[in-house]
Amino acid sequence: MSTYNKINREILMALEAVLGAEYVLTAPEILDKYKTDEETNPRYFHIPEVVVLPGTTHEIAEIVKLANKFLVPITVRGAGTSLSDGAIAVCGGIVLLMERMNKILSFDEEGMYMVVEAGVSTKAIQDIANSKKLLYAGDPCSAESCMIGGNLATNAGGNKAVRYGTTRDQVYALEVVTPTGDIVNMGARLQKKTTGYCLEQLLMGSEGTLGIITKATLKLKPLPPYRFDILAIFTDVTKAIDLVPKIIKAGVTPTSIEFMDNNFVRSTNDYCETRLPHYEDGSYIIITVETLTEDELDIKMELLDNLCTESGAAEVLEADERVWNLRRNCQESVRIISKVNLTDDVVVPLDKEAETIKFVMSTGKNYNLHVMTLAHAGDGNLHICLCKGDLSDEQWDKEVAEFHAEIYAYAYKVGGRLSGEHGIGAKKIKELEKYTEPSELAVMKTIKKAMDPNNILNPGKVVFM
Ligand SMILES: Cc1cc2nc3c(=O)[nH]c(=O)nc-3n(C[C@H](O)[C@H](O)[C@H](O)COP(=O)(O)OP(=O)(O)OC[C@H]3O[C@@H](n4cnc5c(N)ncnc54)[C@H](O)[C@@H]3O)c2cc1C
Repeated sequence: MSTYNKINREILMALEAVLGAEYVLTAPEILDKYKTDEETNPRYFHIPEVVVLPGTTHEIAEIVKLANKFLVPITVRGAGTSLSDGAIAVCGGIVLLMERMNKILSFDEEGMYMVVEAGVSTKAIQDIANSKKLLYAGDPCSAESCMIGGNLATNAGGNKAVRYGTTRDQVYALEVVTPTGDIVNMGARLQKKTTGYCLEQLLMGSEGTLGIITKATLKLKPLPPYRFDILAIFTDVTKAIDLVPKIIKAGVTPTSIEFMDNNFVRSTNDYCETRLPHYEDGSYIIITVETLTEDELDIKMELLDNLCTESGAAEVLEADERVWNLRRNCQESVRIISKVNLTDDVVVPLDKEAETIKFVMSTGKNYNLHVMTLAHAGDGNLHICLCKGDLSDEQWDKEVAEFHAEIYAYAYKVGGRLSGEHGIGAKKIKELEKYTEPSELAVMKTIKKAMDPNNILNPGKVVFM
């Protein structure tokens, strides 16, 4: 592990010279605000030494150069909705906030693209595209609170990934400040390109360890004018999960297929103060289909309705906004069960998803943990939420470690990986080391070392250096 210098008066003065004193914050109550992201366990909180708010790419480049000169780490922070401790300054040093970099720089309806700064909220991008009947297809459940830079850095997935892919599929080009402080444009507004290494794709999903993303040129698509949403409710969870591959095989090209087990159905109904059907015993599959014509919509709707019924759904209903509201609030709803909780994210091949969810559920019964499962079911991405409740810290640590060891081993056995979208962050850095083939891990470390020789950017995340 690298060692760093403490932030001192000289470094603060150098930062102030770049940013102005008002954007270099050291008041204890401000630093305290940035000690965590969505991490709920105080044992993983870290208070940064200084928080900076750059307003331009040039300023960010200067800060990175200073960090290299004085050997202090930088943790970039978007909106701090990370579920993998990604935005926590685990090695101290500088937390660099992107919130002043919040401009939509251009929006070209004809060319169907948008150029944005990294601190723009994801929802703002979606809304402005929609206002012109265009679609920005990145859609994490946290869209209302996260920033596009965070989405790019984590390659965020979300509800529409089954049809449109993850954030990396929505991007033409990036502007990046490298870990040594150079400003580099990566990618181009082209439909195809085999012109050297695809650097922009390397940056996406690198979780702030290989560069600070400052701008992005985003792809827009035509907004399909017709849409329906189905809620298929199952009292037998196995039947619910078994429906998913049938939907994919039916060729209806759904935009979303989401799964919520009954624990989530209850917690999120409670949180949202609603009582949707089968609160007591239902697992939900929410399916969205979007089309260009009404005829296509009717055909697909009928096909899906039949498929859900034949698969044993207790009820097949139109899913209105209340249903999506439940889905969006799943994560938040866990807090009413246990203040300390942990959401995990594993991804498995689609044809192994049903058996993996069944394995998670049956394994959970052997532990004193309250295990809740939901999934971006259309792309094999499971979220397994564990609640600490009354367990002691020691019991919680032991049970979580043992439970996770079983789940990860199973996921890898069926060809899965540790994360489909939340990333490795600090939370799974040991597991990445354990489960990744040594030769693959070595390539990751070689890249990190070459790009960030002083291990300045987001140390303690993704790979040990
Ligand atoms: C309720 C809820 C629902 C969620 N749903 C989803 C979901 O459906 N799909 C999904 O993928 N995730 C989801 N998440 C996780 C989280 O919202 C995403 O990871 C999101 O992309 C993080 O964005 P952020 O702006 O909050 O980034 P942060 O949390 O601030 O940072 C995340 C990581 O990116 C790095 N980073 C941030 N900005 C930059 C930048 N400009 N340049 C380089 N590195 C940067 C940080 O250092 C950190 O490592 C959810 C979280 C919550 C709380």
